[in-house]
Amino acid sequence: MPGLDEKLHDIYDEVLRRNPGETEFHQAAHEVLTSLGPVVAKHPEYADAAVIRRLCEPERQIIFRVPWVDDAGTVRINRGFRVEFNSALGPYKGGLRFHPSVYLGIIKFLGFEQIFKNALTGLPIGGGKGGSDFDPKGHSDSEIMRFCQSFMTELYRHIGEYTDVPAGDIGVGGREIGYLFGQYKRITNRYESGVLTGKGLTWGGSQVRTEATGYGTVFFVDEILKTRRDSFDGKRVVVSGSGNVAIYAIEKVQQLGGNVIACSDSGGYIVDEKGIDVELLRDLKEVRRARIAEYAEARTDVARYVEGRSVWEVPCDIALPCATQNELGGSDAAALIRNSCAIVAEGANMPCTPEAVQLMADSGVIFAPGKAANAGGVATSALEMQQNASRDSWAFDHTEQRLADIMRGIHDRCLETADEYGRPGDYVAGANIAGFTQVADAMLALGV
Ligand code: GLU
Repeated sequence: MPGLDEKLHDIYDEVLRRNPGETEFHQAAHEVLTSLGPVVAKHPEYADAAVIRRLCEPERQIIFRVPWVDDAGTVRINRGFRVEFNSALGPYKGGLRFHPSVYLGIIKFLGFEQIFKNALTGLPIGGGKGGSDFDPKGHSDSEIMRFCQSFMTELYRHIGEYTDVPAGDIGVGGREIGYLFGQYKRITNRYESGVLTGKGLTWGGSQVRTEATGYGTVFFVDEILKTRRDSFDGKRVVVSGSGNVAIYAIEKVQQLGGNVIACSDSGGYIVDEKGIDVELLRDLKEVRRARIAEYAEARTDVARYVEGRSVWEVPCDIALPCATQNELGGSDAAALIRNSCAIVAEGANMPCTPEAVQLMADSGVIFAPGKAANAGGVATSALEMQQNASRDSWAFDHTEQRLADIMRGIHDRCLETADEYGRPGDYVAGANIAGFTQVADAMLALGV
């Protein structure tokens, strides 16, 4: 296995053996282990306490049946998951994903990433993730409500303000968090605001939480640009996806003077050389829950829809993959490199394949991994928890400033750590090592 020394290779073998078939988890674990060679060499105490091996095994994995009744009166069954991965730094924290592709391997990869991402924020949150193979697409509002209520009827016993604090991810937005929180409150008879984040503004939510992942990714890129005495001004930007992360990444790029010319959904992509009309996009995706093809129909004069092709063929200076895991592969990376793309920052979790990451590294493309670049969402969730704990609510500008400061902090720590371990400018090594050492030191302190 290239890139892994003997000890780390053994740990990776153990991951493969213990988690058969969970390819996304294998990929995420391998990616982190690849960065840890210099850390193990410098800190034998981590190996002595088996810190890495303990980190690769979730503290607790919960799998449950989610029965619900559809509008036709038919009983449906889905599977629910919550993987409580690591609580050395705080209560488990991480989103819930509702998507038909969800199985244990996806939740474990996301939970594993979340440990290091959450550590990088510098806030007291452990790592976890959950979800279901339920597909919210095509279901009525009342079906979504009944599904969420059934999901929480099992989940409530495992979570709590001091235990495990879920939030949204793909397929889980404000509507779903509302139904989940309502059911938690009904069952427990507690208005325990801090048990879930991503809540609505009138019932315990935080300003900027909706925008936070997209905004944070763009703040991170802004810091990269600043280190090169550059800015977003006049840059051509391509974003993949058109969900919560993509929409607010587009909005913030435009506020900072960049031009977002393309975005996508699973059917294809749109190009709008005048710049994506973010209000139109938001109305389409968030209110009408429609396909992106309709965007081009609404702006036939300036926009076009390209069906079934990769958005990464559109030439750009900066690429922000904000859709889903492994969406940007080797041939996409090659296209970006050919078109002189300078920066790729992950708004989604692990959207670039290992092959794509390697190609970009070889070609000098600056690459910001998701666990650093998209940490703004969970960081703002931690700010929501702070507000809930103090029964306070902060103004938008104050919260956005806190987010910007956190993203600058993560950026700087990645670069400093990369320097310290002999990998100057390597955001992957910086993020993995800085996240890891933070958790590892806490695990050492807390004992086996
Ligand atoms: N799902 C988001 C992530 O991937 C946010 C999780 C949270 O706010 O807890 O980081």
